[in-house]
Amino acid sequence: MARLILVVEDEPTLRETLSEALEADGFRVTAAADGRAALDRFRSDRPDLVLLDLMLPEISGIDVCRIIRAESPVPIIMLTARGSEVDKVVGLELGADDYVTKPFSLRELSARIRAVFRRGEQAAATAMPPMLDLGTVQVDLAGHRILRDGAEVPVKPKVFELLAFLVRHQGQVVTRDQILELVWGYDYAGETRTVDVHVHWLRAAIESDPARPLLIQTIRGVGYVLRRP
Ligand code: CA
Repeated sequence: MARLILVVEDEPTLRETLSEALEADGFRVTAAADGRAALDRFRSDRPDLVLLDLMLPEISGIDVCRIIRAESPVPIIMLTARGSEVDKVVGLELGADDYVTKPFSLRELSARIRAVFRRGEQAAATAMPPMLDLGTVQVDLAGHRILRDGAEVPVKPKVFELLAFLVRHQGQVVTRDQILELVWGYDYAGETRTVDVHVHWLRAAIESDPARPLLIQTIRGVGYVLRRP
């Protein structure tokens, strides 16, 4: 399946030109015209790369970059105004992978996108172990599977996302609000009980004795922490 690129650009002509050019280049494209729509699209479509304009209505490109980076290692390429050195530095400090200065040629942009994908593949080969051993179970982070004695333990997608989030923050106490914000979406209006229910399901899947959890510990009045064996 072709890689999906999220194009975030408020200027309609540029957004359409970019989308068409990327599609002609063999990518699939989803697009957003402001920062809020960008976060919605990011969460619903799960793109492989985000092309992010810096100056956006609703939520700025800087904030969109920061929020996406808190949730995901997805590659981000910033589109910045000409000669705006400050923006470049801020963008890269916030975790953008690269930046392209307007005006740019589509050919240059395409080369940057392919370079970011290549670097990502090389990093993925060396970074997270493909299989994370929690003692009772093994977690296949890339394949979104939990294995016990070689057999898959079925869990709902959100339960796996919760586990992946806790793994990324292992050893750190995370609050229910943080979990809601980063696993369910920052404007999710649900109750923190949703988190408790999913933690209950996750414990049933990965703890040897869910009534006496060793991996996911409750920090009373605060939240949860994943402790590795
Ligand atoms: Ca703009």
